[in-house]
Amino acid sequence: MSDLFVDLTAPNGRKYKQPVGLFINNEFVKAESGQKITTINPTDETEIATVHAAGSGDVDVAVKAARKAFKDPSWRDLDTSVRGGLLLKLAALVEEHAETLATIETWDNGKPYSVALADDVGEVINVLRYYGGWSDKIHGQVFDTSPAKFSYTIRAPVGVCGQIIPWNYPLAMAAWKLGPALACGNTVVLKPAEQTPLSVLYLATLIPQAGFPPGVINILNGYGREAGAAIATHPNVDKIAFTGSTATGREIMKLASVNMKDITLETGGKSPLIVFDDANLQQAVKWAHSGVMSNMGQICTATSRILIQDAVYDKFVKMYEEQVKSVSKIGDPFKDDTYQGPQITKAQYERVLGYIEAGKKEGATLATGGVPHKDVNGKGFFIEPTVFTNVKDNMTIYREEVFGPFVVMSKFKTEEEAIDRANDTTYGLGSAVFTQDITRAHRVARRIESGTVWINSSNDSDFRIPFGGVKQSGIGRELGEAGLAPYTTAKAIHVNLTGH
Ligand code: NAD
Repeated sequence: MSDLFVDLTAPNGRKYKQPVGLFINNEFVKAESGQKITTINPTDETEIATVHAAGSGDVDVAVKAARKAFKDPSWRDLDTSVRGGLLLKLAALVEEHAETLATIETWDNGKPYSVALADDVGEVINVLRYYGGWSDKIHGQVFDTSPAKFSYTIRAPVGVCGQIIPWNYPLAMAAWKLGPALACGNTVVLKPAEQTPLSVLYLATLIPQAGFPPGVINILNGYGREAGAAIATHPNVDKIAFTGSTATGREIMKLASVNMKDITLETGGKSPLIVFDDANLQQAVKWAHSGVMSNMGQICTATSRILIQDAVYDKFVKMYEEQVKSVSKIGDPFKDDTYQGPQITKAQYERVLGYIEAGKKEGATLATGGVPHKDVNGKGFFIEPTVFTNVKDNMTIYREEVFGPFVVMSKFKTEEEAIDRANDTTYGLGSAVFTQDITRAHRVARRIESGTVWINSSNDSDFRIPFGGVKQSGIGRELGEAGLAPYTTAKAIHVNLTGH
């Protein structure tokens, strides 16, 4: 038991019991693989805890538990309102443990505590409540064909769902995956990212308390290439839901083809934000800043490519630089006034610095930032918010996802040019349009190739609204009613009403 929980004291003084095992059948167990992952505090590079890491044998045990639970009457035959009630209970428990969950998220991920508490943990509560409410409102259809036949559909659960999530929003991504899957009566094997294993393990402690039967939710930490790949290839997993990089999404599609798993993917982006010359510039600057600089720029829908109409280009750039200076306070994420913490890992930090070098080499103008920030404690993966202007469409920094506090700006002349250049990308996740002209706003919104368009805002995602990408930004939708579709299958039942 002792090596399955450790007593920790977080940098903000909060003491708690951190589970470190694999969560299978409502219990924490050791990994058969014998592998471990040590997680690092990105703020000061110290070790936080060492957790068990699943290998393929452990994935097999978890999948068997999930399959058994899927068939068990205690879950399969549960009244749908009671099933929804379990999600509501879990939401209430998350609310009760909000401060501990937010503490762990900040410690392990580096995001500001106030954001982790209000936005990340708040999102978990909202999403679990929302899907708890859906559980007893999922129904099929009746078809009027002919008097000879009675036909209807049942929205049957898909089965055992493998869910693989990233490190940028560990708790929120877990809720986005668990909420709809459980509302529809599936069972789950979820793998958090190896960089951020801790908060989701703590969430696991609340699952038995909420009343979920053993095996319904299984949580396995582990490396992508081992545990992740074992989930994606497992013949007894019916569906894969993944959020992460486009390269890994493509790999998962291949792995999942072994037994033709159902698949939903939410991958990368290089989302455009268009500022027309009639925009409210103060409003545009505010959102264009938060749309890429919040969460240390580690946002899949980051509006990281800003296109500005020529008449307001210079003014917008100047105002944006002022916004960066006045808002982007870098520091210890546990301090109240911190806006920007560290990047998640040394690898991501170096990756962003690599893009800064590429931008300089390619001849873009480095308007602000472009260097590490070492004032916090001499350690940590901090980077100054970075703005490149006069960026050309063929530059690497204009085309590739950077995933950091890093934005590129470019000038356009006409609406047609703005739309063409906004769409000149292999991605299609988010986009934003700033204008006071209501007809232009809707005209442009219709023509941008992306799963989401924000008019006069950026990145204000909402759990009630479908979210996902087109092109190489993903397959399928999460959140809202649309988020239920990937977790049910329409099963058709034909009844012969004749005697022959
Ligand atoms: P990643 O896609 O490799 O990792 C995401 C998840 O997939 C993790 O849980 C990981 O363990 C798992 N995984 C990795 N390889 C796997 C495999 N072969 N089979 C099954 N699962 C596997 O992302 P990363 O390497 O941590 O980050 C790299 C880049 O991805 C970032 O710089 C960023 O551009 C992008 N990213 C995007 C998002 C997003 O929300 N869209 C989130 C994180 C990272």
